Amino acid sequence: MSTIREGLIHATINKAITLIDYNNYDSVHKQFEFVKQTILADNSLTNDEKIEAISSFNKDCNREKIVRNEGTRRICETCNQKCLAISYCEYCVQNYLKTKFSSWSSGNNNIDNLIQKCQIESLMPDMIVEWIPYNNLQNIECLTKGGFSEIYTATWINGGYEELDSENHQLQRFGTHHVILKELGNIENASQNWFEEDLMFKL
Ligand SMILES: [Zn+2]
Repeated sequence: MSTIREGLIHATINKAITLIDYNNYDSVHKQFEFVKQTILADNSLTNDEKIEAISSFNKDCNREKIVRNEGTRRICETCNQKCLAISYCEYCVQNYLKTKFSSWSSGNNNIDNLIQKCQIESLMPDMIVEWIPYNNLQNIECLTKGGFSEIYTATWINGGYEELDSENHQLQRFGTHHVILKELGNIENASQNWFEEDLMFKL
């Protein structure tokens, strides 16, 4: 397979976006279709690069539709719900996370309930709040100690969720990568109030 020119792909996507005539293409769906057709018609890209460009642009479209909560919906073949995302189904993401509720626990009901609530409302496979067991973190090193908290660097084994596999409908992980950890004080006495006022802003 030939080398994929990432810079050229992004330049082609951006150029196609700047060519949108918003009077002619007056809906998000029409604008997305125009950009895709413009990418496919651009002969400076190889076929592999066009596939990569469309895949990359679909991710942007997913995000845009989900954030704006607008655009054409489609019936998901797996769960039969009307989803907004193009390259995955946000309801299938939520359903998968629900099936995993019994497979993890922080040991604190308030934390578990909060994370489960966030997961039930998850709309993007790469933006999911989850509990990370301590043994999934390695190479933990203190980066800095401030007045109210301590910051660490670490390696997160397997990393966070990245995308929904279209064949087995399971969330796939990004792979091992570096993360920043922040220590929260007084976790043993955590109450519902504590989460609403404190943790929500730190997640
Ligand atoms: Zn679905």
